[in-house]
Amino acid sequence: MADCLFCKIVKGEIPSTKIYEDDSVYVFADINPTAPIHYLLIPKEHISKLDEVTKENSAVIAHIYEVIAQLAEKLDLKDGFRVVSNCGELAGQSVFHIHFHLLAGRPLEWPAG
Ligand code: AMP
Ligand code: ZN
Repeated sequence: MADCLFCKIVKGEIPSTKIYEDDSVYVFADINPTAPIHYLLIPKEHISKLDEVTKENSAVIAHIYEVIAQLAEKLDLKDGFRVVSNCGELAGQSVFHIHFHLLAGRPLEWPAG
């Protein structure tokens, strides 16, 4: 998607702080962190949001969860962490390339707002 901010980050057209990358997934630091660890995990392929996940494209979403487990181990997040994917405007989604916030390093209130 030519106009998509996160597609541009994947292509390196917009700078980001890379945390992890493989063939299908890119992980980078959120520019406006709300926790000591606040990373964004995205598929390299453009999927707009959670309700556009299908049988055809869901393998990369499953893989993102494998990457989350690996990062949790590497970052020693055994005390806890949270994964959030806001879907749609009412949920606060502001970038329409599906992404999973990985939050850790402070107590995380629940229920979230
Ligand atoms: P959401 O509001 O759930 O769509 O999350 C979008 C996230 O992208 C927000 O937490 C922003 O801080 C983050 N963000 C926006 N632009 C950038 C950027 N250029 N680099 C890193 N993170 C960004
Ligand atoms: Zn995109």
